[in-house]
Amino acid sequence: MSLKIKSFEFNAFQENTFVVSDTERNAIVIDPGCYSREEEQELAAYIKHEELNIVALLNTHAHIDHVLGNAFIKENYGVDYYLHQEDITTLNAVQQYASLYGFEGYRLSPEPDFLMEDQSELVFGSMRIKVLHTPGHCPGHVVFYFESEGIVINGDVLFNGSFGRTDLPGGNLETLKSSIFKTMFTMPDNTLVYCGHGPSTTIKKERLSNYIHQF
Ligand SMILES: [Zn+2]
Ligand SMILES: [Zn+2]
Repeated sequence: MSLKIKSFEFNAFQENTFVVSDTERNAIVIDPGCYSREEEQELAAYIKHEELNIVALLNTHAHIDHVLGNAFIKENYGVDYYLHQEDITTLNAVQQYASLYGFEGYRLSPEPDFLMEDQSELVFGSMRIKVLHTPGHCPGHVVFYFESEGIVINGDVLFNGSFGRTDLPGGNLETLKSSIFKTMFTMPDNTLVYCGHGPSTTIKKERLSNYIHQF
């Protein structure tokens, strides 16, 4: 495999933050959930130790647990930030509820530099990413599909055995089911699925046994 995927579990929501890098040490940060000073330092130390050149900041979606570290990444690495156009409302809502969730120290995320759409193709170094719009957990949720590598970073759509909640603003169970069955479950069996929370899984395992089948 020519990609290296490093995950960190950050903040009170135990959110998975990903750093994906290629063999030339170009790297993207997906869903930086670092909040405490220690978490920021852990992420920065990895980047420094691996001598990575951070080239982009991507969000699968803009719930607070996935954007807590956006400001840190933007300030320290100066990269462009990518968000789906339909999740700007989700992003703008964060500052209103941050303190309710105990994140009084939330540092306002930058505005996106690029707005992604379904089927957007992103190329960073030798990393080629197909952006697939997968609404239902929130309106502008996307997954990052590294098709030639058989890897998808899927945020809060599928979890190992379960799926993202749909009771938050903009959430819809029928829409999520459609995203899961039409977009996720049509990927090849052995596709490795990295989740926004909990352990990774495969498309085959979830297609056979995910809790979504009960709904
Ligand atoms: Zn979420
Ligand atoms: Zn989450």
